[in-house]
Amino acid sequence: MNWLKKFMLGRYGPDQLSFVLLIVAVFISILSRFLNSQILAILYIVTIGVVIYRMFSKDLSKRYQENVKFLNKWNYIKGKVNGKFNRIKGLKDYKYFKCVNCKQTLRVPRGKGKISITCPKCKTVMAKKS
Ligand SMILES: [Zn+2]
Repeated sequence: MNWLKKFMLGRYGPDQLSFVLLIVAVFISILSRFLNSQILAILYIVTIGVVIYRMFSKDLSKRYQENVKFLNKWNYIKGKVNGKFNRIKGLKDYKYFKCVNCKQTLRVPRGKGKISITCPKCKTVMAKKS
């Protein structure tokens, strides 16, 4: 194992982007077997090549920047998905409206009758039935 430690010294190694690319490569591999597609088989090899290149790269700052960019996008998508999920979970207790002025999503408790809602963003007042 000493030779591996020596070999990996100063190299980037695995990160979240490489891990996701590896999972994508496995999916592409399975898909290429099912569809018997040459293009997907080539895409699989290219993806694995990118993962290996990134892991053994000595340009640490560039690989780090790529990973940060990826994580920013990943967290953005994760936030959107979680937001939608929480909204579906809350449908029983809350009702959702869009502000007529600024299109901000507003959440109000259900079953309170006719209420006036003040948008926290633009302070527009609307009368809605909850
Ligand atoms: Zn508003």
